[in-house]
Amino acid sequence: MKESIDLTGKVAVITGGAGVICSEMARALAAHGARTVICDLNFQAARKVADEISQEFAVASLGISANVLDRESLESSKKIINETFGNIDILINGAGGNSPAATTKVEKMEGSDEEKPEDTFFGLKLEGFDKVFDLNFKGTLIPTMVYSTDMVKQKSGVILNVSSMNSYRPLTKIAAYSAAKASVNNFTQWLAVHFSKTGIRVNAIAPGFLLTDQNRFLLVDEKTGELTPRSRKILNSTPMERFGTPEELTGTMLYLVSDLSRFVTGVIIPVDGGFSAYSGV
Ligand code: NAD
Repeated sequence: MKESIDLTGKVAVITGGAGVICSEMARALAAHGARTVICDLNFQAARKVADEISQEFAVASLGISANVLDRESLESSKKIINETFGNIDILINGAGGNSPAATTKVEKMEGSDEEKPEDTFFGLKLEGFDKVFDLNFKGTLIPTMVYSTDMVKQKSGVILNVSSMNSYRPLTKIAAYSAAKASVNNFTQWLAVHFSKTGIRVNAIAPGFLLTDQNRFLLVDEKTGELTPRSRKILNSTPMERFGTPEELTGTMLYLVSDLSRFVTGVIIPVDGGFSAYSGV
Protein backbone atom coordinates (compact mmCIF):
# COMPACT_ATOMS: atom_id res chain seq x y z
CA MET A 1 0.00 0.00 0.00
CA LYS A 2 1.31 3.44 -0.91
CA GLU A 3 1.10 5.84 2.05
CA SER A 4 1.58 9.59 2.05
CA ILE A 5 1.20 12.46 4.46
CA ASP A 6 -1.71 14.76 3.74
CA LEU A 7 -2.73 17.15 6.50
CA THR A 8 -5.03 19.27 4.34
CA GLY A 9 -7.93 20.59 6.40
CA LYS A 10 -6.26 19.79 9.72
CA VAL A 11 -5.78 22.48 12.35
CA ALA A 12 -2.49 22.23 14.22
CA VAL A 13 -1.69 24.26 17.33
CA ILE A 14 1.99 24.55 18.19
CA THR A 15 2.89 25.99 21.58
CA GLY A 16 6.28 27.64 21.68
CA GLY A 17 5.63 27.92 17.94
CA ALA A 18 7.84 30.97 17.53
CA GLY A 19 10.90 29.11 18.82
CA VAL A 20 13.71 27.50 16.88
CA ILE A 21 12.41 23.93 16.82
CA CYS A 22 8.69 24.53 16.77
CA SER A 23 8.67 27.18 14.06
CA GLU A 24 10.38 24.59 11.87
CA MET A 25 7.76 22.00 12.83
CA ALA A 26 5.02 24.49 11.96
CA ARG A 27 6.59 25.05 8.53
CA ALA A 28 6.64 21.31 7.88
CA LEU A 29 3.00 20.98 8.94
CA ALA A 30 2.01 23.83 6.62
CA ALA A 31 4.03 22.30 3.79
CA HIS A 32 1.76 19.25 4.15
CA GLY A 33 -1.42 21.30 4.06
CA ALA A 34 -2.23 21.94 7.75
CA ARG A 35 -3.53 25.27 8.96
CA THR A 36 -1.15 26.17 11.76
CA VAL A 37 -1.61 28.18 14.93
CA ILE A 38 1.64 29.62 16.20
CA CYS A 39 0.93 29.96 19.88
CA ASP A 40 3.62 31.69 21.89
CA LEU A 41 4.19 33.99 24.84
CA ASN A 42 5.90 36.30 22.39
CA PHE A 43 3.06 37.58 20.21
CA GLN A 44 5.22 39.60 17.80
CA ALA A 45 7.41 36.59 17.10
CA ALA A 46 4.36 34.32 16.72
CA ARG A 47 2.78 36.69 14.23
CA LYS A 48 6.00 36.96 12.26
CA VAL A 49 6.30 33.16 11.95
CA ALA A 50 2.62 32.83 11.00
CA ASP A 51 2.94 35.56 8.35
CA GLU A 52 6.01 33.89 6.86
CA ILE A 53 4.26 30.52 6.80
CA SER A 54 1.11 31.76 5.12
CA GLN A 55 3.17 33.52 2.47
CA GLU A 56 5.53 30.64 1.84
CA PHE A 57 3.01 27.79 1.78
CA ALA A 58 -0.19 29.56 0.70
CA VAL A 59 -2.09 28.03 3.59
CA ALA A 60 -3.59 30.01 6.48
CA SER A 61 -1.52 30.42 9.63
CA LEU A 62 -2.50 32.30 12.77
CA GLY A 63 -0.08 33.87 15.26
CA ILE A 64 -1.55 34.01 18.72
CA SER A 65 -0.37 34.98 22.17
CA ALA A 66 -0.90 32.57 25.08
CA ASN A 67 0.97 31.56 28.18
CA VAL A 68 1.06 27.77 28.54
CA LEU A 69 0.97 28.23 32.32
CA ASP A 70 -2.13 30.39 32.34
CA ARG A 71 -5.34 28.49 31.72
CA GLU A 72 -7.37 31.63 31.08
CA SER A 73 -5.07 32.86 28.35
CA LEU A 74 -5.19 29.41 26.75
CA GLU A 75 -9.01 29.36 26.91
CA SER A 76 -9.19 32.80 25.25
CA SER A 77 -6.75 31.71 22.56
CA LYS A 78 -8.82 28.57 21.94
CA LYS A 79 -11.91 30.70 21.37
CA ILE A 80 -10.06 32.68 18.70
CA ILE A 81 -8.67 29.50 17.13
CA ASN A 82 -12.12 27.88 16.98
CA GLU A 83 -13.66 31.04 15.49
CA THR A 84 -10.89 31.34 12.91
CA PHE A 85 -10.22 27.73 11.92
CA GLY A 86 -12.75 25.46 13.69
CA ASN A 87 -11.80 22.43 15.78
CA ILE A 88 -8.24 21.63 16.76
CA ASP A 89 -6.92 18.32 15.34
CA ILE A 90 -3.25 18.40 16.27
CA LEU A 91 -1.50 19.79 19.34
CA ILE A 92 2.27 20.07 19.60
CA ASN A 93 3.36 20.92 23.13
CA GLY A 94 6.63 22.62 22.24
CA ALA A 95 7.04 25.38 24.83
CA GLY A 96 9.77 24.28 27.21
CA GLY A 97 13.30 24.89 28.26
CA ASN A 98 15.94 25.08 30.95
CA SER A 99 16.99 27.85 33.35
CA PRO A 100 20.50 28.77 34.52
CA ALA A 101 19.05 29.04 38.08
CA ALA A 102 18.41 25.28 38.05
CA THR A 103 21.83 24.40 36.58
CA THR A 104 24.91 23.53 38.67
CA LYS A 105 28.26 25.10 37.78
CA VAL A 106 30.17 21.84 38.20
CA GLU A 107 29.35 18.45 36.73
CA LYS A 108 30.51 16.34 39.67
CA MET A 109 30.88 17.50 43.25
CA GLU A 110 34.36 16.96 44.71
CA GLY A 111 33.35 17.27 48.36
CA SER A 112 36.59 19.16 49.11
CA ASP A 113 36.98 22.16 51.46
CA GLU A 114 37.98 24.45 48.58
CA GLU A 115 34.82 23.75 46.65
CA LYS A 116 32.15 26.47 46.73
CA PRO A 117 28.82 24.90 47.76
CA GLU A 118 26.98 27.36 45.50
CA ASP A 119 28.64 25.74 42.46
CA THR A 120 27.12 22.35 43.31
CA PHE A 121 23.77 20.76 44.02
CA PHE A 122 23.55 22.98 47.12
CA GLY A 123 23.53 26.13 44.98
CA LEU A 124 20.49 25.11 42.94
CA LYS A 125 17.64 27.57 43.40
CA LEU A 126 14.19 26.27 44.27
CA GLU A 127 12.71 29.08 42.15
CA GLY A 128 14.71 27.65 39.25
CA PHE A 129 13.19 24.21 39.86
CA ASP A 130 9.70 25.70 40.03
CA LYS A 131 10.25 27.58 36.80
CA VAL A 132 11.62 24.60 34.88
CA PHE A 133 9.07 22.10 36.23
CA ASP A 134 6.23 24.48 35.56
CA LEU A 135 7.26 25.32 32.01
CA ASN A 136 8.06 21.79 30.88
CA PHE A 137 5.52 19.71 32.79
CA LYS A 138 2.59 21.99 33.56
CA GLY A 139 3.26 23.77 30.27
CA THR A 140 2.43 20.46 28.60
CA LEU A 141 -0.39 19.50 30.95
CA ILE A 142 -2.47 22.70 30.90
CA PRO A 143 -2.53 23.29 27.10
CA THR A 144 -3.49 19.63 26.68
CA MET A 145 -6.40 20.10 29.08
CA VAL A 146 -7.59 23.13 27.14
CA TYR A 147 -6.86 22.28 23.52
CA SER A 148 -7.74 18.56 23.44
CA THR A 149 -11.42 19.05 24.27
CA ASP A 150 -12.21 19.45 20.54
CA MET A 151 -10.45 16.16 19.87
CA VAL A 152 -12.60 14.33 22.41
CA LYS A 153 -15.74 15.79 20.82
CA GLN A 154 -14.73 14.78 17.30
CA LYS A 155 -13.28 11.43 18.49
CA SER A 156 -9.96 12.01 16.76
CA GLY A 157 -6.82 13.97 17.31
CA VAL A 158 -3.11 13.82 17.88
CA ILE A 159 -0.97 15.21 20.68
CA LEU A 160 2.79 15.40 20.37
CA ASN A 161 4.90 16.36 23.37
CA VAL A 162 8.44 17.61 23.01
CA SER A 163 10.78 15.77 25.36
CA SER A 164 14.57 15.57 25.33
CA MET A 165 17.54 13.19 25.56
CA ASN A 166 17.92 14.04 29.24
CA SER A 167 14.54 12.40 29.94
CA TYR A 168 16.03 8.90 29.56
CA ARG A 169 19.24 9.48 31.50
CA PRO A 170 19.84 12.83 33.21
CA LEU A 171 22.57 15.07 31.87
CA THR A 172 25.03 16.56 34.34
CA LYS A 173 24.31 20.08 35.63
CA ILE A 174 20.67 20.29 34.51
CA ALA A 175 18.92 18.48 37.35
CA ALA A 176 15.56 20.20 37.05
CA TYR A 177 15.32 20.11 33.26
CA SER A 178 16.19 16.39 33.18
CA ALA A 179 13.60 15.48 35.81
CA ALA A 180 10.99 17.72 34.20
CA LYS A 181 11.44 16.11 30.78
CA ALA A 182 11.34 12.64 32.39
CA SER A 183 7.94 13.66 33.76
CA VAL A 184 6.87 14.62 30.24
CA ASN A 185 7.67 11.08 29.04
CA ASN A 186 5.80 9.54 31.93
CA PHE A 187 2.80 11.78 31.32
CA THR A 188 2.88 10.97 27.59
CA GLN A 189 2.48 7.28 28.40
CA TRP A 190 -0.14 7.92 31.04
CA LEU A 191 -2.28 10.09 28.79
CA ALA A 192 -1.88 7.74 25.82
CA VAL A 193 -3.49 5.00 27.89
CA HIS A 194 -6.12 7.30 29.35
CA PHE A 195 -7.14 8.56 25.89
CA SER A 196 -6.72 5.23 24.09
CA LYS A 197 -10.46 4.70 23.56
CA THR A 198 -11.22 8.31 22.56
CA GLY A 199 -9.52 8.33 19.14
CA ILE A 200 -6.74 10.59 20.42
CA ARG A 201 -3.13 9.45 20.16
CA VAL A 202 -0.44 10.85 22.44
CA ASN A 203 3.27 10.53 21.65
CA ALA A 204 6.50 12.42 22.17
CA ILE A 205 9.65 13.21 20.27
CA ALA A 206 12.96 13.35 22.14
CA PRO A 207 15.40 15.53 20.22
CA GLY A 208 19.09 14.92 20.66
CA PHE A 209 21.56 17.77 20.69
CA LEU A 210 20.88 20.80 18.61
CA LEU A 211 22.78 24.03 18.95
CA THR A 212 20.16 26.70 19.66
CA ASP A 213 19.86 29.95 21.64
CA GLN A 214 18.53 28.03 24.62
CA ASN A 215 21.66 25.94 25.17
CA ARG A 216 24.28 28.13 23.53
CA PHE A 217 25.49 29.32 26.98
CA LEU A 218 26.44 25.71 27.78
CA LEU A 219 27.79 24.66 24.41
CA VAL A 220 29.77 27.60 23.05
CA ASP A 221 32.38 29.65 24.90
CA GLU A 222 30.99 33.20 24.99
CA LYS A 223 34.41 34.82 24.66
CA THR A 224 36.18 32.63 22.12
CA GLY A 225 33.20 31.26 20.18
CA GLU A 226 34.84 27.81 20.43
CA LEU A 227 32.89 24.67 21.37
CA THR A 228 33.03 24.08 25.14
CA PRO A 229 34.42 20.84 26.62
CA ARG A 230 30.76 19.91 27.19
CA SER A 231 30.07 20.22 23.47
CA ARG A 232 33.07 18.00 22.71
CA LYS A 233 31.68 15.40 25.11
CA ILE A 234 28.31 15.53 23.41
CA LEU A 235 29.83 15.05 19.99
CA ASN A 236 31.98 12.19 21.29
CA SER A 237 28.81 10.57 22.68
CA THR A 238 26.85 11.04 19.47
CA PRO A 239 27.75 8.25 17.05
CA MET A 240 26.98 10.54 14.08
CA GLU A 241 29.52 13.01 15.56
CA ARG A 242 27.55 16.19 14.94
CA PHE A 243 24.72 18.33 16.28
CA GLY A 244 21.29 17.85 14.74
CA THR A 245 19.23 20.55 13.06
CA PRO A 246 15.58 21.50 13.67
CA GLU A 247 14.77 20.32 10.11
CA GLU A 248 15.91 16.83 11.06
CA LEU A 249 13.11 16.54 13.62
CA THR A 250 10.30 17.18 11.19
CA GLY A 251 10.20 13.73 9.54
CA THR A 252 9.52 12.02 12.87
CA MET A 253 7.07 14.75 13.86
CA LEU A 254 5.11 14.33 10.60
CA TYR A 255 5.05 10.57 11.07
CA LEU A 256 3.66 10.93 14.60
CA VAL A 257 0.95 13.47 13.75
CA SER A 258 -0.22 11.75 10.56
CA ASP A 259 -2.13 8.57 9.82
CA LEU A 260 1.17 6.85 9.04
CA SER A 261 1.35 6.20 12.80
CA ARG A 262 -2.36 5.49 13.33
CA PHE A 263 -1.63 2.43 15.55
CA VAL A 264 1.11 4.20 17.50
CA THR A 265 0.39 5.78 20.87
CA GLY A 266 2.42 6.24 24.05
CA VAL A 267 5.86 6.21 22.43
CA ILE A 268 8.75 8.60 22.85
CA ILE A 269 10.94 8.57 19.76
CA PRO A 270 14.55 9.72 20.05
CA VAL A 271 15.93 11.72 17.13
CA ASP A 272 19.47 11.95 18.34
CA GLY A 273 22.14 10.74 15.92
CA GLY A 274 22.43 7.57 18.00
CA PHE A 275 23.16 9.26 21.36
CA SER A 276 20.68 7.17 23.38
CA ALA A 277 21.94 3.92 21.88
CA TYR A 278 25.63 4.52 22.56
CA SER A 279 27.37 3.37 25.73
CA GLY A 280 30.49 5.35 24.90
CA VAL A 281 32.55 2.22 24.30
P1 NAD B 1 13.18 28.15 22.00
O1 NAD B 1 13.61 28.85 23.24
O2 NAD B 1 13.75 28.54 20.69
O3 NAD B 1 11.59 28.26 21.87
C1 NAD B 1 10.73 28.18 22.95
C2 NAD B 1 9.53 29.07 22.64
O4 NAD B 1 8.62 28.90 23.71
C3 NAD B 1 9.89 30.56 22.58
O5 NAD B 1 9.37 31.13 21.39
C4 NAD B 1 9.23 31.16 23.82
O6 NAD B 1 8.74 32.47 23.64
C5 NAD B 1 8.08 30.18 24.04
N1 NAD B 1 7.65 30.14 25.43
C6 NAD B 1 8.44 30.17 26.54
N2 NAD B 1 7.67 30.17 27.64
C7 NAD B 1 6.38 30.13 27.21
C8 NAD B 1 5.14 30.13 27.87
N3 NAD B 1 5.06 30.16 29.21
N4 NAD B 1 4.01 30.09 27.13
C9 NAD B 1 4.08 30.08 25.78
N5 NAD B 1 5.22 30.08 25.09
C10 NAD B 1 6.36 30.12 25.81
O7 NAD B 1 13.37 26.61 22.31
P2 NAD B 1 13.71 25.39 21.36
O8 NAD B 1 15.17 25.14 21.48
O9 NAD B 1 13.12 25.54 20.02
O10 NAD B 1 12.99 24.22 22.16
C11 NAD B 1 11.65 23.82 21.88
C12 NAD B 1 11.35 22.57 22.68
O11 NAD B 1 12.31 21.55 22.39
C13 NAD B 1 11.42 22.77 24.19
O12 NAD B 1 10.43 21.99 24.82
C14 NAD B 1 12.80 22.25 24.56
O13 NAD B 1 12.85 21.85 25.88
C15 NAD B 1 12.90 21.09 23.58
N6 NAD B 1 14.26 20.64 23.27
C16 NAD B 1 15.20 21.49 22.77
C17 NAD B 1 16.46 21.00 22.44
C18 NAD B 1 17.52 21.89 21.87
O14 NAD B 1 18.65 21.42 21.69
N7 NAD B 1 17.21 23.15 21.58
C19 NAD B 1 16.77 19.65 22.63
C20 NAD B 1 15.79 18.83 23.16
C21 NAD B 1 14.53 19.32 23.45
